[in-house]
Amino acid sequence: MMYVFICPKCKATRMVSLLRKLDCQCCSSPMANCELDYMEWINLTPKQRQKMIDLYHNADPAKLCFLRPMPFYDRWERNYYM
Ligand SMILES: [Zn+2]
Repeated sequence: MMYVFICPKCKATRMVSLLRKLDCQCCSSPMANCELDYMEWINLTPKQRQKMIDLYHNADPAKLCFLRPMPFYDRWERNYYM
């Protein structure tokens, strides 16, 4: 699974699969995990993508998530306790 990260400061985007958090290559600030996953992201038009990036750019940094979710581990942990 690929994840999309957006830099709220300079609007750079990056796709990663293994990293859980990362810093922007352009401005070194922490990048926010986009709520869309890679498959949803590539289906957006460039205009919709720009809109999403602007949304993150204007958002309150305290409300952004800088860690990507780990659904596999969450499920695994839940099953463990069931
Ligand atoms: Zn940046």
